[in-house]
Order: sequence, then C-alpha cells, then structure tokens
Amino acid sequence: MERCPTCGGKMQDRTPAKPYHYTESGLKNVYLEGVTIWRCSACEEELIELGNVPGLHAQIAELLLQKPFILTGSEFRFLRKEMRMKAKDLATVLGVTPTTVSRWETGEERLGVANDRLIRSLYFFWLVEQGKIVDPKSILDRVATQFPTIKATPKAFPIRLPVKPELAAAR
Ligand SMILES: [Zn+2]
Repeated sequence: MERCPTCGGKMQDRTPAKPYHYTESGLKNVYLEGVTIWRCSACEEELIELGNVPGLHAQIAELLLQKPFILTGSEFRFLRKEMRMKAKDLATVLGVTPTTVSRWETGEERLGVANDRLIRSLYFFWLVEQGKIVDPKSILDRVATQFPTIKATPKAFPIRLPVKPELAAAR
C-alpha cells in the first residue's frame, strides 16, 4: 500500500509491538499478532492490513466452536454473522423470538446450555453446506467429545492469532 485511499498521501507501515486488539470483529477478546498498520503522512488516516479476512474469521469461528465455556453474546453473534444469517432468520430456526436472539447477543439474557450447543451445531451444518467438512461423521465425533466438556459459565476466552495470509489461506 503506497498511497492513501482517502487523500493520496504517502503511506508508511509499521508493525506494532503489542498484538492488535481486533475489536472490528465484534468480539472483545481477539488479539492479532504481526499485523501491519499503514498510516498516511498527510491526513493521518490509519489502515490495518489483516491479510485474508475470511480465513482469519474462519479460524476465530473454529476456536469458538472448541471453546470450553458457554459462548458469550458477542461470540454467538459472531457465529451467526459468519453464517450470513439475519437475527430474525436464526430466531425462526431456533424457535424463539427475534427479541430473544437480540437479548442473547447483547448479553441481557443468558444463552442457555442447549442453545449454545444448537448454534455450534448449526455452524457445523453450515460448514458442511460450504463444503468445508466433507466427513459428516467427524461432526458427530466432535459433538460427542467436545460438547460434554463445555462448562455452563460464560467465561471470557482470549483468542490470539498470528496474521499470516498463507496460514489463513491454508484452511
Ligand atoms: Zn491520507
């Protein structure tokens, strides 16, 4: 990136010493290592280079599926958005009102143990539909081994990921 997309000024890059707090993900606990921050010397606009964003989000989703605690509202919302589902449509699928989905996502209402497993299961189905899981039996294995270990406390779950496009693209 040589030129600023806003003003055409010269961009300078740097790699921050601390991991980048990726709040743009909508999650509170995601930190990315090795990002490049581009700053315009003229208008001071900053852009963060994340490489393969869909691949990065797929990695985050995979870690959330393995999370050993019940999902928080923002983690639930992250999985819903990854599936490109509207809150209204997800509510219909889960047999609840859109208000309930909204209250889960804002954290006003706790996501129950069963609904936590349901959203993870739906995401598995979505991965199958996307052709990312070719062996459906692997889902049953994961359900059998992972689901019983999920604790009912909605505990924070820090995610730290290196930003390496080639890594993300390998998924
Ligand atoms: Zn600029």
